[in-house]
Amino acid sequence: MTMIARLNSRWSPLAALAATACLVANSFWLSHNIRQVIDASEWVEHETEVQLELARLESELLNAETGQRGYILTANPAFLAPYYEGQARALVRLSRVAGVTDLEAGLSGQLDELTATITEKFDEMALSLSLMQAEGQAEAREQVASANGKLLMDRIRTLIGAMRTTTERELADRRAAFEAAQFQLYGALAVFVIGSLLLIGLLVYVTRQELLRRTRDAVEIEGYARSLNASVAELKRERNEIRALNDAAGYMQSCDTIPELTALLSPTLARMFSDFQGQVLVHAPSRNRLDCVAAFGGAPTLGAVAPSECWALRRGQDHRREKGGTAPLCSHLTDISGKGGVGTLCVPLVAHGDTIGLLTLTLKCPENREHKEVEEAELLDQAQRLAETMGAQLGLTIANLRMRESLRQQAIRDPLTDAFNRRYLDAIGDKILAQSARFGQQLAVVMIDVDHFKHYNDLHGHVAGDQALIAVSGFIQSRIREADWLFRYGGEEFLLIMQGLDAEDAREKLDALRAEISEFQFTNGDGVLPAVTISLGCAIFPDQARDLPELIAMADGALYEAKHNGRNRLEFAAGAPAADEGETVLPAGLLRSA
Ligand code: GH3
Ligand code: MG
Ligand code: MG
Repeated sequence: MTMIARLNSRWSPLAALAATACLVANSFWLSHNIRQVIDASEWVEHETEVQLELARLESELLNAETGQRGYILTANPAFLAPYYEGQARALVRLSRVAGVTDLEAGLSGQLDELTATITEKFDEMALSLSLMQAEGQAEAREQVASANGKLLMDRIRTLIGAMRTTTERELADRRAAFEAAQFQLYGALAVFVIGSLLLIGLLVYVTRQELLRRTRDAVEIEGYARSLNASVAELKRERNEIRALNDAAGYMQSCDTIPELTALLSPTLARMFSDFQGQVLVHAPSRNRLDCVAAFGGAPTLGAVAPSECWALRRGQDHRREKGGTAPLCSHLTDISGKGGVGTLCVPLVAHGDTIGLLTLTLKCPENREHKEVEEAELLDQAQRLAETMGAQLGLTIANLRMRESLRQQAIRDPLTDAFNRRYLDAIGDKILAQSARFGQQLAVVMIDVDHFKHYNDLHGHVAGDQALIAVSGFIQSRIREADWLFRYGGEEFLLIMQGLDAEDAREKLDALRAEISEFQFTNGDGVLPAVTISLGCAIFPDQARDLPELIAMADGALYEAKHNGRNRLEFAAGAPAADEGETVLPAGLLRSA
């Protein structure tokens, strides 16, 4: 609301109140003027009536005098009627004059004198008539001729004239007062009309202003309500995001292995980024590519990305591309983005300052989005905030799981040969046996010893000896199945447990292994080293024993037998099938070096 509008809304009611007060005062003034005009007009009427009544009085007196004189001159009694009539009417007029002049102090003295003179006149006329009747016409004529009556009549005329003059003056004053009152009345009326019009105008203006203010207020309140709703929705969305993040973090932290984590990621990310499809890619150990470990929202679940294909990885920061923007599209997203919306987002997964992977997001087509009405830029904003937090959490989780896995591997594997260590054999050996027993399978426990290794060391050096052990271990691990276990049992001794094999199968496989190793050449960086041979002693579970230490002891006994029988051979513990002819051939190289 502007300053003027504020002042208007504050002063308008006061102005309306003041105008109303003025109008009320003006109304009183107007009614006062009307009263004055009425009074003045009443006075004018009154004065006019006085004049009229005085004129009538004079006329009636003349009638009476005419009747009196006519009777005396003619002795005709017919003249008496106008005499009496005129006298009676004159009295009535006199009383009326008295009545109307009662209000005026100036006239009352003149009226008293007039009344007395009229009375005297009436007495004079009555006397002449009495003389007419008593003394005769001559006496009466004499009395009339004495001019006493004429003098009285003149006196009456003079008095009436004086009174009329007074009244005329009064009338002139009254008329002037009437005109003044009338003028004032017109003025008051004009003020009243103009004031009323102004007041009506002001009221219309104030009402309009008030309506405008209320409309503005309503619009403002509506705006507030809308922004409040938007804030509440935003808070609700953020609360849901935080809850989803907390839930995801809780589940992620509870994962023990990376496969467990990646299995969890697809549904979690699909829930969190419902308007997007995307992938989680993790650096391969070689760091020359990132492998897809999880996908959601319809993105392909497989694939690898070279670090140079992604702008986020190249620049070490989020890379966002949206409609109308100038940011380039990462080449690894060309296929996905082509099927979805334009907006894409790549967030590097960083942990302990090291980039370990990538989270990619691509907007779905508008018809597949959950929030169709929300703008692409706004969806990307929301997703970026969430992806950054989720990415940080995910990066740490993957790094921690990798570290845990590495520690676990270090704990159970021999660092030189990468075969499982003796401690792990103690922990898991019985379980392997129990599993085979449960599935009713046979199992071969094989003790392997490198032949004449002391001599090999002496001949080629200890480093070469280490290389030989690494090569033997790697070779055996590459030949055995997922379900088989290779342990480093001692210095140059290994224990191999092969599941699901009877003695016949074991003989076949182990002898092939022995033969292959005897011909397997490896390098130590400087050059090719001669192959080593191994001797093997085998015992079969459960045919020969059901207990691991016993089986190991039997296998060890068979190994001793193999050594005793010339090395580079396979022997079975007592009771096992006999070896085929010609299977124990000592390698020429080893014999040479020996
Ligand atoms: P045999 O054929 O009877 O088994 O003879 P051998 O020389 O292999 O057996 P012996 O027990 O006399 O010697 C074992 C040698 O293995 C002694 C030791 O120096 C060597 N050795 C044990 N562990 C390692 C290792 O980690 N690296 C290297 N380079 N040599 C090892
Ligand atoms: Mg040995
Ligand atoms: Mg040996």
